[in-house]
Amino acid sequence: MTWFAPYPLFLVRGEGTRVQDADGRWYEDMIANYGALAHGHNHPALVGAVTGQMARGTALGSPVPLQYEHAERLRALNPSLERVRYCNSGTEATMWAVRTARAYTGRDLIVKIDGGYHGTHEWGQVNAFFAPHRTVPPHLPGVPEGRLASGVALSAAADVVAIPYNDVPTATAVLRQLGEQVAAVVVEPVLGVGGGVPSAPGYIAALQRLTRETGALLVLDECATLRLGPWQVKHGVVPDLTTHSKIIGGGLPLGAFGGREDVMALFDPSEPHPIYHASAFGGNCLSLAAGTAALDHFGAAEIAHLNFLGDRLRRGLNTAAASVGVAGRSVGEGGLSYFHFGNTPPRDAADTARLRAGREGLRSLLHLSLLNAGFLTAPHGLLCQHVPTAPASVDALVDAYVNALDDLRPYIAVHHPELLEADPVGTRQDAP
Ligand code: PMP
Repeated sequence: MTWFAPYPLFLVRGEGTRVQDADGRWYEDMIANYGALAHGHNHPALVGAVTGQMARGTALGSPVPLQYEHAERLRALNPSLERVRYCNSGTEATMWAVRTARAYTGRDLIVKIDGGYHGTHEWGQVNAFFAPHRTVPPHLPGVPEGRLASGVALSAAADVVAIPYNDVPTATAVLRQLGEQVAAVVVEPVLGVGGGVPSAPGYIAALQRLTRETGALLVLDECATLRLGPWQVKHGVVPDLTTHSKIIGGGLPLGAFGGREDVMALFDPSEPHPIYHASAFGGNCLSLAAGTAALDHFGAAEIAHLNFLGDRLRRGLNTAAASVGVAGRSVGEGGLSYFHFGNTPPRDAADTARLRAGREGLRSLLHLSLLNAGFLTAPHGLLCQHVPTAPASVDALVDAYVNALDDLRPYIAVHHPELLEADPVGTRQDAP
């Protein structure tokens, strides 16, 4: 994820919204550690919380009050977390949520989104967004084939059915046919790695209806979208289980999963055969102290500012591309944005793949031009800001895009002339 040709930047420090590379150059940070940070680097409250906790102990091998202090703040942001448990990462949080759903339903099958990203465990690397190492036939006609990352056991695909994002008819057909075998439908409310694709209005609610009909659980992966408010609160959907990570750790590794009390009761160690949850550093004091301080500085004003910056950036980038006459669109929601070449916003991961196909060289040149202009952005197009990021920095990034796209016009004219014409991609028009 962090490697790019000809060689990646090595960064040696972060200060506020800027980062410095090993050659001493400073960049405005427009990735925020792939959306995992919200408060900039070296925020005094977070530094104080971590250094203070370091002196009191990092992992005490017992339940700690900090778990409750953090959970209270997290639940204030996301009331669907009637019960919450801690782990070390988003990968672990989604792994545990699915384990929980399997224990609750007594079923094995998972329905996930084609191109959905939930981490690096086995089922998460089936139909994630990548060039597959091998493929297996689809479970049902009309759904994508199983695509496995290198090193993932073939058997992992047996328990995973991938469905296209934002496609209610396919979700309905799959759940009506396989519903009694399905433990969980796992979904991101904004497809992150799959291209920053927002869910269409009513899509997540439709998945919720289908899971209720079939007795499966809806697992909403909000690892990336807590920065939106979280998404479920903004849109009024209450899933059975939710996963959070990234900004909840204030810059340190922390994952959380939780939701319905009757489901999470399966972890009760005083009952026979609870779900076995062990982890040497899960819910450790240092991450919880940093995360608690972070959530103390993540209220309505901070969330509104991140969403304001994201909206401003996407509007600016769309105008920028149009002003230069290059087909380019910025998509996403709130403080989570992407930039794609092409005129039509993607509706699912297959659209994103089509928008990217054959344009690796162009995307790399854009990324390197932005670096030269002093902006750290993600090679795959993700753009995230920090709470202390000023609107003027977002405007300066938009100007850097204008200059970079203008400089690239001669290259685009030779290699991608379709991007200088109207709507060259031919993907669907009704995308969100
Ligand atoms: N789920 C989502 C939606 C994510 O964006 C990520 C991280 N990109 C993960 C899960 C995995 O989190 P981690 O990298 O902490 O394992």
